[in-house]
Amino acid sequence: MKKGIPRTLPPLGLIEMGRLGEVAVRVVAANLQGVLGIPVDLLQPMDIPTESFQEHRKQHDAGLILKHLASRSFPNHLGVLALTTVDLCSPILTYVYGEAEVGGTTAVVSSHRLRSNEDGSIVSLGRYYERLAKVSLHEVAHILSMFHCEKDDCLMHYCSKTHHLDRLGIAFCRRCEYVLKKNLALRCS
Ligand SMILES: [Zn+2]
Ligand SMILES: [Zn+2]
Repeated sequence: MKKGIPRTLPPLGLIEMGRLGEVAVRVVAANLQGVLGIPVDLLQPMDIPTESFQEHRKQHDAGLILKHLASRSFPNHLGVLALTTVDLCSPILTYVYGEAEVGGTTAVVSSHRLRSNEDGSIVSLGRYYERLAKVSLHEVAHILSMFHCEKDDCLMHYCSKTHHLDRLGIAFCRRCEYVLKKNLALRCS
């Protein structure tokens, strides 16, 4: 993907929101750079917002976290991705691994449900980092105006279970990769 992308592409800002740890943040940064070919800027960590907390669900509304991110100004960045430890939900879904503004500037990914399987069994650290990277690539691709893909091994496939995530490669299908390259070119100034 790196080939042909002009150097004037602004960096994506990566923000730790809660204690994920340096390794997790660096794994995500390396995958965004390696797979999408976009420069990544590690920004100052941010506190988990209080206004996104849903008392009755004991979860954070992912859309409200995006709003919180959008209220800050990041004029020199392509967009921002917040990596958080809190469990995310949306008004219509019981949980989400991440959420992004399609064609916008904000995305959020949660590590909360990635360290174990649905039956509660803990997965290896390697598997956990891989899942985190996959969800992050998916959400950042949404920022780059990408929609879901029906191919079940493509990173743009919608996944609601961890075994769906594990089935994905760390790559986009040929069609999505083609559209992504075009969309990246449009974001260059
Ligand atoms: Zn999606
Ligand atoms: Zn695809």
